[in-house]
Amino acid sequence: MSDLVIRGATAVLEDGTRRADIALEGERISAIGAAGSLPRGGREIDAADLVALPGLIDMHSHHREPGFTHKEDLETMAKQCAAGGVTTSVAMPNVSPPPTTAEHLDAMIETYRRRASFDWNVNASGVQLAEIPKLADRGILAFKIFMVVDTGRSYPHMPGIGLHEHGELYTRMLAVRRTGLPLMIHPHDQSLMDAIEREYWARGERDFRAYARAYAHDDGVIWDTAVAVLLRLQAATGVRLHLLHTQTRRVVEMLRAAKAAGQSVTAEANPWCFWLGNDWASIERLGSYALSYYVAPHHSAAVYEAFRDGTVDIMATDHAPHLREEKEPGWTDGWKAHTGTPSEQFYLSLLLTDVAAGKLSLERVADATATRPARIFGLYPRKGALRVGADADIVLADPRGTHTIADAEVLSKCGWTPYAGRSVRGVVRYTFLRGRAIYDDGRLQLEEGYGRQATRAAGHAA
Ligand SMILES: [Zn+2]
Repeated sequence: MSDLVIRGATAVLEDGTRRADIALEGERISAIGAAGSLPRGGREIDAADLVALPGLIDMHSHHREPGFTHKEDLETMAKQCAAGGVTTSVAMPNVSPPPTTAEHLDAMIETYRRRASFDWNVNASGVQLAEIPKLADRGILAFKIFMVVDTGRSYPHMPGIGLHEHGELYTRMLAVRRTGLPLMIHPHDQSLMDAIEREYWARGERDFRAYARAYAHDDGVIWDTAVAVLLRLQAATGVRLHLLHTQTRRVVEMLRAAKAAGQSVTAEANPWCFWLGNDWASIERLGSYALSYYVAPHHSAAVYEAFRDGTVDIMATDHAPHLREEKEPGWTDGWKAHTGTPSEQFYLSLLLTDVAAGKLSLERVADATATRPARIFGLYPRKGALRVGADADIVLADPRGTHTIADAEVLSKCGWTPYAGRSVRGVVRYTFLRGRAIYDDGRLQLEEGYGRQATRAAGHAA
């Protein structure tokens, strides 16, 4: 007898969406059959009103541990993942000490092994040339480079994990290419941004509006020039380039052209680009609490279209919690506020709300949040799809359930969400991680240390 049968869910399977039973045995999916066809399991869940999706794989999340655990830690991350349908969440390297060296990465991995109750990995920093081959040996899925180094504040883009000189980028790309792993880059033209910032500051413009406008200056010039350089360097080096933070129309055009030319490039979209920073009214209302970045609606619409058709491959959260006292200074000085917004807990609901509105298909949601990240970063077929033999990482959500997001339910240590007050349609009911219900009809069931490093599946050796 299987341990559990999910009965009659509308399941997004690899060959289509249909009513199905899904049986779980140990950590794996043991059978998938037509609704009502599988024998009874040790536990039965009536999922007739629910959709079943592969557990979300978030390739871009700022977990904050070690070094910034006043903002977030692995325990609060786990709660948000479970409640949000995320079974694998991959950390970004702007922690302290940062995983720029194998020694730092080893310590970080040890902490995760002990403490994490979600499946995890770490995107190591690709800044230190000599460390790149050693870091690649630690079972990581990708490297990350920030082209941005903060001015006016010391976090989140601190020195030591950012570089933007073209020659420096070129040599890191060559080194990462030799590992076979993808290289994630936060595009940003630092030299141009320095000049743009000086114009705003010279006029005495420093508040959150000025900050938002400076980053979006000249219709997104800092993003466009950075991506143009990166795509050209990708062609020169052959590295597997993964562009972060897609947010302009021209970046979408360049991405389309690069893909059409056969370049090895993939890209992510973030929740804030579609549902937060694309609305000036929310920036006026929330100030720095709404900023990651301001994305003018014509850009957001272009990115959304490219996300829908798969040109922008995946959605990753860029989950970036900060305390209120770290956001408050932004009302008068946007450069003093820590930039970024939390979203791990609610992004599936935001996506399902768009599905309910007919803007996105359920299949594309599964593809963008699980299957394609798993394929790009080597987790497939162990993870990323509802298939027999795969890890039983499954989300069951009520697609008709409505809910108004509130600060009071926020499980992040930061205690707030920029989505507070928003009505969503699509509510997570159950999350299974390797067969275990870590979110069980609304109850968190986490066990410290249950999480495992999500490494590349066999046959995907770098
Ligand atoms: Zn980020």
